[in-house]
Amino acid sequence: MSIPRIVIVGGGIGGMLLATRLGRRLGRRGEADICLVDREFTHVWKPLLHTIAAGTRDVHQQRVHFLAHASKNGYRFEPGELLGVARHARYVRVGPLRDAAGAIAVGPRELPYDLLVLALGSGANDYGTPGVREHAHFIDNQAQAEAFNQALRMHLLRAALHDTDIRIAIVGGGATGVELAAELSDLTEQASGLGDGQLRQRLRLTLYEGGPRILAAFPEKIAEASSDVLRGLGFTLRTGARVQGLSEGGVLLQDGQAEPADLVVWAAGVKAPGVLARIAGLPLNRLQQVEVTPSLQASRDERIFAIGDCASLTPPNAGRALPPTAQVAAQQAEHLARYIERALQGEAVPPFRYRDQGALVSLGKYSAYGTLGAAGLYPGYFIRGRLAQLGHAWLHRRHQASVLGWSRAPLAWLAEATNACAHPPIRLS
Ligand SMILES: Cc1cc2nc3c(=O)[nH]c(=O)nc-3n(C[C@H](O)[C@H](O)[C@H](O)COP(=O)(O)OP(=O)(O)OC[C@H]3O[C@@H](n4cnc5c(N)ncnc54)[C@H](O)[C@@H]3O)c2cc1C
Repeated sequence: MSIPRIVIVGGGIGGMLLATRLGRRLGRRGEADICLVDREFTHVWKPLLHTIAAGTRDVHQQRVHFLAHASKNGYRFEPGELLGVARHARYVRVGPLRDAAGAIAVGPRELPYDLLVLALGSGANDYGTPGVREHAHFIDNQAQAEAFNQALRMHLLRAALHDTDIRIAIVGGGATGVELAAELSDLTEQASGLGDGQLRQRLRLTLYEGGPRILAAFPEKIAEASSDVLRGLGFTLRTGARVQGLSEGGVLLQDGQAEPADLVVWAAGVKAPGVLARIAGLPLNRLQQVEVTPSLQASRDERIFAIGDCASLTPPNAGRALPPTAQVAAQQAEHLARYIERALQGEAVPPFRYRDQGALVSLGKYSAYGTLGAAGLYPGYFIRGRLAQLGHAWLHRRHQASVLGWSRAPLAWLAEATNACAHPPIRLS
């Protein structure tokens, strides 16, 4: 007798957690075939991408290789990009794999499913702004973060050795933009051995935010404290400044003003991947996210679930959809890990209930700010400094422990700490 097939597309925070849990529980016992599809070969904790972009963290140590992880945890890994879903025939189409010269090494494949979980994440939203695709960097995935880092290194070397300033524009005052700004300050401080030792003073960074304040999704107190830190670092915060276009020379604002920049990072808005719009009959919102019911099922196809950033769920009486955060993705994955078997048995999946565990922003070594969540003992309590930094780091450590297991994760932490002592913490060459 054939066993049920669960295909999970996207091995990010939500998808990796779900594949691990289901693989260990159902896959290992042969009770279901769990298959994870991702276009990358390695998993990273996405909230660290800004440190990879800045070069203040070693990317290799942060990666979990899907192939090795799959065989240890009872699921299968199928590399490749999702190209489409045949909903009525119930299979997903996965794109070909190419060799370094671009020749097809493995052709496109069709993977049948009984249940499909979409966990494709999201990227920044350029809102069709002219020049963004041509002139801006994005830091939404590993390849983009590394590409930015490579460009950054060249600009920093040129600035230090040719005695010029380096002008960086970050568009988008959300957590990604704010955290990246702090990390860039740290990088240039640590690289003081370059040239005349004035690299930090040469950094001219401007953060553009169209809304009235940065960190719009966070309580005002966090935004104020973070603004003070960034201004204290000598950065310019341009709130209420809508970027209308980008050119090779910099940023064009709504009032027609042009501001020069050597490097631009686009970190504004959120949009789910375009492939979702090509799945016929899947209900999407204007950000291309799948509209799901409280059981996390697509509203017109109960064999398709969607979690994390690529899903949109407005809890009853909430008034607005859950935010695209690591916390939401992880909690939704845990919910499905617990209840998805019910869908296999034709029973209803209980509604997902979000537990707000607070919000945290890390300004790297300078500080961190946050509030405790509505689900805790001191709802809304403001935390800062070392405590908030530890809270931010704990989110990552907890994820690592879920994915690697509590016996292996401490070994990874030890290796990381040892490596940090032995090797320079920055990449500049
Ligand atoms: C720089 C940065 C900092 C952040 N900081 C924070 C923070 O401090 N706190 C917080 O809560 N959130 C933060 N976030 C947001 C957080 O990372 C996301 O909300 C979270 O990763 C969403 O998890 P997910 O599982 O939905 O998707 P992701 O973790 O993005 O995973 C999506 C996966 O899908 C794969 N994929 C995508 N398209 C395809 C395709 N067509 N075919 C196959 N595979 C595909 C990707 O390779 C990826 O592995 C940050 C994000 C960024 C970029």
